[in-house]
Amino acid sequence: MIDVTGLPVAAGGAVTVRVPAKVNVRLAVGPPRADGFHDLVNVFHAVSLYDDVTAAEPVEPGAYSVRVTGLSADQVPLDGGNLAVRAARALAAHAGRAYGADLQIRKAIPVAGGMAGGSADAAGALVACNELWGLGLTREELMEIGGDIGSDVPFALLGGTAVGTGRGERLAPAEVGGRFHWVFALAEGGLSTAEVYATCDRLRAEAGVTAGPPRANAALMEALRAGDAAALGRELANDLQPAALALMPGLAGVLAAGRERGALGAIVSGSGPTCAFLTGSAAEAAALAAGLEAAGVCRAALTAYGDVPGAAVVAAAP
Ligand code: ATP
Repeated sequence: MIDVTGLPVAAGGAVTVRVPAKVNVRLAVGPPRADGFHDLVNVFHAVSLYDDVTAAEPVEPGAYSVRVTGLSADQVPLDGGNLAVRAARALAAHAGRAYGADLQIRKAIPVAGGMAGGSADAAGALVACNELWGLGLTREELMEIGGDIGSDVPFALLGGTAVGTGRGERLAPAEVGGRFHWVFALAEGGLSTAEVYATCDRLRAEAGVTAGPPRANAALMEALRAGDAAALGRELANDLQPAALALMPGLAGVLAAGRERGALGAIVSGSGPTCAFLTGSAAEAAALAAGLEAAGVCRAALTAYGDVPGAAVVAAAP
C-alpha cells in the first residue's frame, strides 16, 4: 500500500513517525529561576539517530498502552510516565476527546544519554496521534502542547538547527550551510538531567561564581552558516559539562580520547553522559568511531550527520 505522500503504508490503521536525536552545539545555562528551571541559550542541532514511534487504534477503547524495543528498551517506563503516553494523553485532552492509542517505540536514541530521546518519543506520539485521530493540528500547535511536556519536545518537532531561549522551548531556526559529521560515544549508564542541573548550581555556588544571563555566540552561528566544521569544533560549548564530568569522571578520558584521535571538537551532549565529537567527513567519523570502540573507552560509538528534519510521518494507513 502507498499513501498519498508516496510513502509505504503501515498495516491496520497505524501511523509511524521518525524523530531525530539532538546534540547541543551550545548550551549556555543562566542561574536557577524561581520556578526551578534555568534560562538557557541552547543551540539545538538534529542528528540522524532516530526513534520510530507508531500509533495504532487502542486494543480497548479509550486506553493507552506502550511497547518499547531497541537500544536500552528495558530502561524505558511502560506506564503513564512514558513521555510518549503523556504526549498522546495531552493531545487527546487538548482535543477534548477520549481517544486512546496503542503506541510502539523503536529506540535507537540512547536512553538518559543527553540526546533528548524521551522528548523525541513525545514529539513522535504527538505527530502520530494527530494523524491517527485526524485532528489536523499544525506543527506550531503541536509545539505548544509539546512545550508543556518537556523543554526539548518543541525542537524534536521542528528539527534542523535552532536557537532555544527561555528554558529552551522558544525556538528560532538557524541557517546551516553544510552537513556536519558526528560521532557519539555511548556511556555505561545514564545521568539524570535534574541531577546534572543541580550539580551545575552547586559547583557554581562552591566556586563563588554567579552566573550571568546566558548569551549567544556569534562565531558559532557564523560557523554553522558557513558549514565550517573546524570553526564549529572550536566553538562547541556546554555549561553543563563540568557537572556531568563531576558526576561521571570517566567522561574526561572519553573526550580526551576523541581529541587525540583528531576530532575537531569534543563535548558532552546536553546533560550527558553521551560524548559528541565533530569530524570533517563521513570517513573521518567512521574512523574515529572505530578508534574509540577499539580503545574500549565507551559502550559503543555511533556515527550520524546533521542537521536533519524534525518528526515526520514515514508510514501511514487510513
Ligand atoms: P535530555 O537530553 O532531554 O535531558 P535524555 O536524553 O538525557 O534527555 P531521555 O532518554 O529523554 O534522557 O530519558 C530520561 C528519562 O525519561 C529516562 O531515564 C526514562 O526514565 C524517562 N522516560 C520516559 N519516557 C521515555 C521514553 N519514551 N524514552 C526514554 N526515556 C523515557
